[in-house]
Amino acid sequence: MLQVQGIDTYYGPIQALENVCIEIGDREIVSIIGANGAGKSTLMKTLIGLCHPAKGTITFNGKRIETLPANKVVREGIVYVPEGRKILANMSVSDNLEMGAYSRKITRTQMQKDLESVYEIFPRLKEREKQLGGTLSGGEQQMLAIGRGLMADPKLLMLDEPSMGLAPIIVEEMFQTIKNISDDRKLPILLVEQNAFVALGISERCYVLENGKIALSGTSQELRESPEVKKSYLGG
Ligand code: ATP
Repeated sequence: MLQVQGIDTYYGPIQALENVCIEIGDREIVSIIGANGAGKSTLMKTLIGLCHPAKGTITFNGKRIETLPANKVVREGIVYVPEGRKILANMSVSDNLEMGAYSRKITRTQMQKDLESVYEIFPRLKEREKQLGGTLSGGEQQMLAIGRGLMADPKLLMLDEPSMGLAPIIVEEMFQTIKNISDDRKLPILLVEQNAFVALGISERCYVLENGKIALSGTSQELRESPEVKKSYLGG
């Protein structure tokens, strides 16, 4: 579904990604782990058209997209869910969700149907439908961010650090829900995480990004057993 081949991305003279190659198959959950500054956000920004690679190609469903601007990438079906606190704090939960569908031309009936399907996944959001986004707990804001992403009807969902700032018990629930969404909707998910433990728990395959380069890759099982990953990312 997505093939990234040999991309280099720069900020002016600073090279943030070097020869990055990744692949995501249909229905797969793939994770990218790496420390602060490894280049995870830059990779996401490059995939959604907010940064353009100086070299390399990005092919999505057979179409080259590396030169497309972000609004066109969304229309191709790649939807980016930033870390949960980026929801619109002064808008209600339902308005936040409807914002997710802005790039689609859908009827009110379809909008209502899609809202209900998000509320089925996250009943807590239904209970808080009229509440302002900013008044939600951290976990609920993360649900809202994911729900808003689903309202865009993605073909590939990219999640940026969904565990950030959440208590371990909430993280566990959140990741189970993410897995269910992928299974039920047959939706491939690319997950970027500093929390290697949860990322490896949910994904089929994983890439380790270090200093802008893919340092390791394999099935999550292989990486869980790798001495390097154990030492650097799983606390020994
Ligand atoms: P974090 O988990 O802290 O967000 P990250 O893995 O997402 O880290 P990036 O934010 O992609 O890492 O940063 C990769 C490299 O690019 C870092 O060396 C960073 O300093 C540099 N960088 C990121 N954004 C910019 C920018 N706007 N201008 C210049 N350099 C940048």
